Amino acid sequence: MSKPTSEPTEFAALSSLYADIDLDAEGKACGFLRVPHSVHRSAYGYIPIPIVRIKNGAGPRVLLVAGNHGDEWEGQLALGELIRRLEPKDIKGRLIILPSANLPAAIAGTRTSPLDNGNLNRAYPGDPKGDITHQIAFWIEHHLVPGNDYALDLHSGGSSLMYQPSALAVRDGKEDYVRRCLALLEAFGAPVSFVATAPQGGGRTFTSACSRHGVVYIGTELGGAGQLSQATIEVARSGLLRALAHIGMLDGSTIAVPPPRKTRLTALGGSDYYVYASEGGVYEALVEPGVEVKSGQPAARIHFHDTPWREPATVTFARDGLVLCKRQPARCERGDCLFHLGTDIAG
Ligand SMILES: [Zn+2]
Repeated sequence: MSKPTSEPTEFAALSSLYADIDLDAEGKACGFLRVPHSVHRSAYGYIPIPIVRIKNGAGPRVLLVAGNHGDEWEGQLALGELIRRLEPKDIKGRLIILPSANLPAAIAGTRTSPLDNGNLNRAYPGDPKGDITHQIAFWIEHHLVPGNDYALDLHSGGSSLMYQPSALAVRDGKEDYVRRCLALLEAFGAPVSFVATAPQGGGRTFTSACSRHGVVYIGTELGGAGQLSQATIEVARSGLLRALAHIGMLDGSTIAVPPPRKTRLTALGGSDYYVYASEGGVYEALVEPGVEVKSGQPAARIHFHDTPWREPATVTFARDGLVLCKRQPARCERGDCLFHLGTDIAG
């Protein structure tokens, strides 16, 4: 059995960030992770990142995170709803909720932080003396993640992508660890799930932080385009309750748990699962998320509005699969991701 460490790492003391609530005490407390931030308008100020603890005796220790990217909203709203709804009597164990992990980015409505251009989900394991985003990542990696058995990190497509509402896990760790991640993925019950063969971001993501500390992890990609829909919020809301019941934190006696929902399990492999813009221009999608495609099928045309007498370029899918996401803005540059696929996992 993979076993998480139960305490912050030896490096945690290097951080100047701290939560102004006790994360281990019994009961419910709402407060802030304080990130010291000295600026023109506030010499001794701090950035107040909301954090909540709900604890009722012994039981699983669960961390719920959203807002790693500021413009991904379903998770931030669903976690806010959970904070307002759940009381200690409703759960067993300890739940910590960090609903807007990169708060400066969330307030700006952007993927990255306006303070330092930092992408929190490419900043782990962080740096206690680095810019604000790396300081937040360091505190999460060394103080917050290690004391948990399970973690869910709720993402969406953000401003640049639109996803078929999905959840994800990564094959990154020992067999038993991966098996427990996949069981949590199936319990969450998103309409589609994908299992990535490797984490994005070269070890700099929250996924990798969880893997390093043996914390069973799943993520989501719910909708996107910097928008919200009732359908995608419902996937987050119901999936969270099913996941917490699977973990043993909810028993259904005070909070109704939605019935199980079968997910379509797909695999996300290497570069042939992705379609990138071959040139800059205006991209015209020829398929939408949720559609099945074949290898060689045209995915998009790229129009050259700076030289409109040129014929558009066509980019094609490199393999068969289910379209899981597409780029949202029409204007693209060479190297922008336009689509990625998933392929059904047999059985
Ligand atoms: Zn994200």
